[in-house]
Parts: sequence; C-alpha cells; structure tokens
Amino acid sequence: MHRRQFLSALAAAGLLPRSLVLPGPRSTPGYTASGIYALVLGSVQDAGFPQVGCYTDRCNEGRALQATGHGRFVSSLALVEPEAERFYLVDATPDITRQLDLIAEPAFRARAAARRPFDGIFLTHAHIGHYAGLAELGNEGMGMQKTPVYCTQAMADFLAANYPWRFLVEQGRIDLKPLALDRWHRIDPLLEVQLWKVPHRDELSDTVGFVFRGPDASLLFLPDINSWSLWERDVAEAVASVDVALLDGSFWSMEELPGRTAAEVPHPLMAQTMDALQGVADEGKTRIVLTHLNNSNPALDDGGPQQRAIARRGFTIAREGMILPL
Ligand SMILES: [Zn+2]
Ligand SMILES: [Zn+2]
Repeated sequence: MHRRQFLSALAAAGLLPRSLVLPGPRSTPGYTASGIYALVLGSVQDAGFPQVGCYTDRCNEGRALQATGHGRFVSSLALVEPEAERFYLVDATPDITRQLDLIAEPAFRARAAARRPFDGIFLTHAHIGHYAGLAELGNEGMGMQKTPVYCTQAMADFLAANYPWRFLVEQGRIDLKPLALDRWHRIDPLLEVQLWKVPHRDELSDTVGFVFRGPDASLLFLPDINSWSLWERDVAEAVASVDVALLDGSFWSMEELPGRTAAEVPHPLMAQTMDALQGVADEGKTRIVLTHLNNSNPALDDGGPQQRAIARRGFTIAREGMILPL
C-alpha cells in the first residue's frame, strides 16, 4: 500500500484528521505540437507564484494550483522545432526544473539526458527571474554541455565576470554569444532574432526584448520595461509589426502598490498597456498576451473580473502550455 492510500485508510477509519491527507502531487502536463512553435513555460514575475513567505489568499491559490500540476511559473518560453529536433530557452528562471517538464517532445528528453537540451538560451537581462535558472544547468545540476547563450554584450560581460556564473563559462557549460541590437541575426535555418533595447532598472546589465521570426510568424517577448513612454520605439508600431507580442503585465493597478506614486512604479500598469495598444488589438492582426504578472495582480485570479475585462478588450493573459506557432 502506498503512503497516500495508507493515510487515506487511516483517515477513513477516523484515526487521522482528514486535513492531514493531502492530495498527492499530480504530474505536470507536457505539450507537443507540429511545426515550429513557442511554448509558454511561465507567466509571472521573477519571484514566482506563490512568492516565498507570502500567504495572502492569492498566493495560497497559487499553491493550490501547483498541487494540481497546473501551477504558474516565472515568465519564460521554449522555442521548439520538432522536425529538426532543435530547442531553445528564452530566459532561464528559478522554476526551470519544473518548467522543462512542460516540453514533452521525446527528442527533448533524449537531449536532456545527453546533457545538451538546448541549441541556445536567450537572456533578456540580469534580474533573478530571468537568468538565475542557469545555476541548475551547471555542476550541481544538469552539467550541461557547451550551449550558446544569446544576449547583449553587457549581459555577456556580467556573466563572464561574476561568480558563480563565471564557472559556467570556465567549465564550458555555456558559450557566450553577444548579439548586436536592432538587426536580424540568423540562429538556424528556421529561426532569426532581433534584440530591442528597453528602459529598465539596469543595475547589472542592460535589458532587451527579443523578436523571433520563424517561417510563418514573428513573436515579440518583452517581459520587463519601466514604461512604454520612455521607450525609444512607438509601442503601438512595434507591437503591430509582429504576429504575437508577449508583454510586461506586472501590475493591474496602483492599488497593489500602496504608498507609491505612478512615477515610482518601474512597470506599466495593465490598463496603460491596453490603452496604448487598444487600436492594435482592435485591428486583430497581432495577438497581444500579457505576461510577468506580479503575485499581487488580481488578473491572476482565474475567471475573475480582471481576466474577463482583459478578454473583452481583445487581450490575453499568458498561461503555461500556451502554444504560439512560429
Ligand atoms: Zn522580471
Ligand atoms: Zn527586470
């Protein structure tokens, strides 16, 4: 008899309080698709959902979701080329262990077993949610073999100069490949990328959004920006130029940030983003997906009024397992 069945039997006999008999962990669902695609591996802000030590109703709901195997993880993507059996990771998060379970392509698991899961890793910037997952790929974890890491020169310099990241370079786990801004770089016969610099808190590196272009579609991944108005690009034009845009959706409203003024908040509010992009959403050519939600954001509440309002305006909230063809 398994431990769970044993506990259930004890509870049924009245020998244990029912509250002690927790449901066993369900396995995380995995996803596959045909044709080249992006797979959403995560949808929340750097510190995850629930956040450490946070026991609000919302974070407790996040814990309950994780127990069902449908939890939310830190914002990230996998880019998958099933026929060519090529795989890329976009941002390496602290949730990386469970996030990779979402990639159910058999070839991916074979490659992970051979310690070479990715043909490349793209990193937006040096905040913990966006690169700290690299630690799991080093000596203490996967022991990944020489894998290209695509980022800006400043991000590459940061990784090369600072331990423990420098170990990954010295031990041949990662191979830094800094890319210039604002021009197409061919990564493989099916995939190109551009780096767009964005204004953000750049203590350790600069920050970029990536535009990926596959045979059929383009996708902008831009999880962090201080404000759309400080950006050198016109946000509506930038978003209208791609087929899918995953954008910073950290906060719903100022109510999540008591005691702070709008000028102090280093992210656009969802309403501001939707206002700036309503015309693009109405045109219907670009799918606009909000991601990187903070643990205070009521748009995390599945089926809640904020999610309904977002859907009515023609926008979507990122969700793990979402497949976006490229
Ligand atoms: Zn972030
Ligand atoms: Zn950041």
